[in-house]
Amino acid sequence: MDPISRRSILLTSTAVVAGAATQSHGANQMPKPIRAAKGGTDIGPRDQTRDTENPDILVPPSTDKGLVPNLRFSFADAHMNLQDGGWSREVTQRELPTATEIAGVNMRLKTGGVRELHWHKQAEWSIMLAGNARITAVDNDGKNFIADVQSGDLWYFPAGIPHSIQGLGPDGCEFLLAFPDGSFSESSTFLLSEVFARTPKAILAKNFGVPENAFARIPKEQLFIFDAPVPGPIGSDAIPSPQGTVPLSMVARAEDQRVTKTSGGTVRIIDTRNFPIATEIAAAIVEVAPKSMREIHWHPNADEWQYYISGTGRMTVFASRDSSRTFDFRAGDVGYVPKSMSHYVENTGQDTLKYIELFHSNRFEDVSLNQWLALTPALLVKSHLALDQGTVDHFSREKKVIV
Ligand code: MN
Ligand code: MN
Repeated sequence: MDPISRRSILLTSTAVVAGAATQSHGANQMPKPIRAAKGGTDIGPRDQTRDTENPDILVPPSTDKGLVPNLRFSFADAHMNLQDGGWSREVTQRELPTATEIAGVNMRLKTGGVRELHWHKQAEWSIMLAGNARITAVDNDGKNFIADVQSGDLWYFPAGIPHSIQGLGPDGCEFLLAFPDGSFSESSTFLLSEVFARTPKAILAKNFGVPENAFARIPKEQLFIFDAPVPGPIGSDAIPSPQGTVPLSMVARAEDQRVTKTSGGTVRIIDTRNFPIATEIAAAIVEVAPKSMREIHWHPNADEWQYYISGTGRMTVFASRDSSRTFDFRAGDVGYVPKSMSHYVENTGQDTLKYIELFHSNRFEDVSLNQWLALTPALLVKSHLALDQGTVDHFSREKKVIV
């Protein structure tokens, strides 16, 4: 054997050994459906990516019990609606049957891309996730609102009020829309293109006082999302309405949202107390530091619809009937917690966990387990749970929010 061949065999065998080592290391890293003496290895088909992403589904905490329906759906599993000017996808009651009070839409508009002028039966709450857009609306008194929104800004269109959203430079935008009705669908909105296409042209002519042939080139089908010229500076789009501008701002700027700092993170509550027009959706924007968690609590007034923006977390929902279930979350996931069911959201990663809590209500309301017990006679609490005085002394009369 010549030296070169010998060398290539040595290299090959080294590579095989290294490959085997990597493979067995990888297998050790794979989560197994085993908790102490219970369970067993998974030797059949499996989706390793999903198993790794969902450690609390594969190996539920031993405290999980009973039949709690699914409370999670990812936008990554939602039908993607690709259009000329961007894309959209929705998570509604059809995707997540437990989510009856709120539905959500995730939308991307390229620079110039327009979500066409439209209205719908439900109000629309929105948060800009990235980039810039121009929004327009006209209310029932003929008062108008035109504004540019950027990352972190919220906007709100009351039910039935016609509006539009257009992506601006340098790279358009991506945002989340929420509607206070789980059965909402973005495909059931009232579109400008369709109200023209579905009305006799003679009626259009009569309505606007122009000849019928003025409408000869209107679109035959809906536009929904389409490419349009990028508008100039906001001032160039201003239209003075004889009726004036809307009495309540349709935008809540990121810099105006009051931030409450806690030991474990921050929370921004936006409801009618600081965003008066948003009468049908209340929000909390939560950031949880690594190793911290949103404290155990529940909401007495409404279901909670969650959208995860970044990081990873887990939530256990206690559903009464001696039942609870734990779910894992990451960016793009929707979580849902029916009214009054207690829950926590723990950061399970190395980075900040950021998510949004939304409620079909004019007010954000929550009850803290910790605060409840701190404000209840200690003897009564101790006699329930066999706790010592040192433990109940540690309970907090102030809400912790994030611990
Ligand atoms: Mn809309
Ligand atoms: Mn909550």
